[in-house]
Amino acid sequence: MPVSDYIVTIGLEVHCQIKTNTKMFCGCQTSFADEPNTHTCPTCLGLPGALPVLNEFAIERTILSGMLLACSTPPTVVWDRKNYFYPDMPKDYQITQMDLPLCLGGGVPLYDHNYPKDAQKSIKNPGKVVQLNRIHLEEDVAKSTHLANSTLIDFNRAGTPLMEIVTEPDIESAEETFAYLKSLQQILIAGGISDADMDKGQMRCDVNISVRKNESDPLGTKIELKNMNSTSAVRRAIHYEVARQCQALDSGETLVQATWRWDEELGETQEMRTKEDAHDYRYFPDPDLLPITTADYIEKVRPLVPELPHEKSARFQKELGLTEYDASVITSDVQLVSYFETTIQSAETSGKKVANWIINNLLGLLNEKSVEIKESPVTPEKLAEILNLIEAGTVSNTQAKDLFTALWDAPEKDPAALAKKMGFEPADTGAIDSLIDEVIAANPDKVAEIQGGNEKLLNFLTGQVMKASKGKANPKIVTDGLKAKLL
Ligand code: ZN
Ligand code: MN
Repeated sequence: MPVSDYIVTIGLEVHCQIKTNTKMFCGCQTSFADEPNTHTCPTCLGLPGALPVLNEFAIERTILSGMLLACSTPPTVVWDRKNYFYPDMPKDYQITQMDLPLCLGGGVPLYDHNYPKDAQKSIKNPGKVVQLNRIHLEEDVAKSTHLANSTLIDFNRAGTPLMEIVTEPDIESAEETFAYLKSLQQILIAGGISDADMDKGQMRCDVNISVRKNESDPLGTKIELKNMNSTSAVRRAIHYEVARQCQALDSGETLVQATWRWDEELGETQEMRTKEDAHDYRYFPDPDLLPITTADYIEKVRPLVPELPHEKSARFQKELGLTEYDASVITSDVQLVSYFETTIQSAETSGKKVANWIINNLLGLLNEKSVEIKESPVTPEKLAEILNLIEAGTVSNTQAKDLFTALWDAPEKDPAALAKKMGFEPADTGAIDSLIDEVIAANPDKVAEIQGGNEKLLNFLTGQVMKASKGKANPKIVTDGLKAKLL
């Protein structure tokens, strides 16, 4: 049967490094791309007898993540040892949480703008919230680099606080998975919890995929794709894997639960090992760490919960009159939100106009010049000054765009002074006044219609005056002048 007739079920385990200065169970500095093995001590090297000491900040950040995602936190949580052998973890167990993790339940809202661009027109479950099973806190292992005949191990990463965010098998497609990862990233960044940069390995995910024929069938055999580190690769891998599983079932094969990997270069999945069952890890409570009671942490963290992107978006629509689209663009990036919010503080114009300007002019120029918003030469304060010049009738919208571009190249200049230098002065009101009279005289039929109630035609007459002034007049002043004379 065709692939599209199969029911696809996906569950995700996302490992995300928490932004902390020090490691989870020792005082070593967390780092990225430093000289290998320079941030280590007996604890994170796993030397016998070294004891763990909790990083409370990491615990707080995990509870905060849970609050952002509507999870609950049990009154007592426990640390467990997950036993297995691997060279990147010489003490032979990872400290993690099994039965009593820091967060339970909750969900991740999928934002429309986080679906792949080509899939945004056909979102199957708009407004979906992907159900979470849990978030637990654990330690990262060392980083292995495999060479032809040897493996290098860097313990700088060992012991970095790592949250594991586990979904229920609640995702239906590669596109939803993509949107899930982007939305989760956006929320964790907005909460200041993690930079969640997949390129830097700060966020990695394991993807569990199964297919079945009918809704009434039990979930199909699960294949796990390990350690994916790019959202677009995850999307490609799922498409490939789903097709492969469907084809196998079509030809009567029995799938075996196993761990596979995605080969980006070949564009295919490959089998690594059949899955060891969870009890092989022989979890047991870590005797070096006492259970912790969470009440005090919860009280401490509660006031830190920030307004989430979708909450901000709703507020911008309600209070500032932004369209849903504009609000979602503005809230799609923390830097952009902060730019917008700073601009509206000093702009004497509507939030809607500020949003329009940022989306239509600023983002365009940033894109064209490949500059990030936080590096924008035109600061929010300067943009507000430009918008105020428009509002005061000193420059027209078109002139403001030129002014904006000029300011981009000379950001230290004062917008008002620069406008003057560019010859953008409030046009001679007497001259404009006579142009308005000329246009009124030349269009008696339009004037009659306007006076009969069709005020939309004011735009037409404004256009005529603008043309006659060779674009120099300020359209707002022209319209006001026309209204004063005609209505
Ligand atoms: Zn250490
Ligand atoms: Mn884990």
